Amino acid sequence: MARHNIFANYDLDEQKAFIAQVLENEPPYKKIPFDMKWYRDFNNIAKLSINSYCEHCASEKVFTGDIDDVMHNTFSDDVFRSVGRVPNGTTSSNQDEYFADKSFFLNLELNCALCGETHYYSLLFTGDKVQKIGQYPSYASSEIKELVKYKNIISKYYTELTKSVSAYSQRMGVAAFIYLRRILEDLVDKRIADKDGKKFIDKLKEVEKTEQIIPDNLSAVKSQIYAILSKGVHEYDDEECLQLYLAVKYVITSLLDMELKKKEDEKKVAEAVKMIQNKLAGGKEYGQTQDANGK
Ligand SMILES: [Zn+2]
Repeated sequence: MARHNIFANYDLDEQKAFIAQVLENEPPYKKIPFDMKWYRDFNNIAKLSINSYCEHCASEKVFTGDIDDVMHNTFSDDVFRSVGRVPNGTTSSNQDEYFADKSFFLNLELNCALCGETHYYSLLFTGDKVQKIGQYPSYASSEIKELVKYKNIISKYYTELTKSVSAYSQRMGVAAFIYLRRILEDLVDKRIADKDGKKFIDKLKEVEKTEQIIPDNLSAVKSQIYAILSKGVHEYDDEECLQLYLAVKYVITSLLDMELKKKEDEKKVAEAVKMIQNKLAGGKEYGQTQDANGK
């Protein structure tokens, strides 16, 4: 097919991964920078897969879409000509100048690979930035549904976790971050015997001597996480909080996942022990055991 643009870079994995990351993780209205050379590549993306929470399946699923038509209708040379004359002999060196003041609006529909449920996304590309300007189901509602599994583990702070996601989706960085910090403080406090009068960052470092709190895959931003958690709450600024929000949220959900797994394991062990005891006791004696316990 003669769809390809002249300057397309045929290794599209980076571009696809970028769009998937924006759809999956970025909150609405955040302006995310990218390389303007990619405008010429987007036309060649035919398929996209992302992970998203499926309301129908009630769990995270792969959502895919054949998006070649919509990409072609948004990012082809014909479209570039219609929004402003493509300069004759546009080269890879002057195309940044050409795209700097142009906007492109993209609607994507992706379907759950298991049940077919559709998720809708709208992206606005302007110059070297892209924003997610629409999403259904909404970013906050999808994120919050993924957090329901933690409800029983942090009953006291579950509402704050959901408020945090709502604040983040509205770009209120400080508010979003303060909720996360309170939850993390609670998780750290639970792991420490003598916590009175100690600063949060010192408690965190103390716990980290015996148990990993910041996962290995965040080692690149570990010092930034320490730095922001060392600050007094009044010292935060929105941009800094937004930048580190996802990393700190990941620290918290990793800890909660471990606690969730521990609870499930304990439950399995308890069930196995009970089954073995019942079998050893035999039907008749099992009844007597129950009587002996006064049940
Ligand atoms: Zn589904």
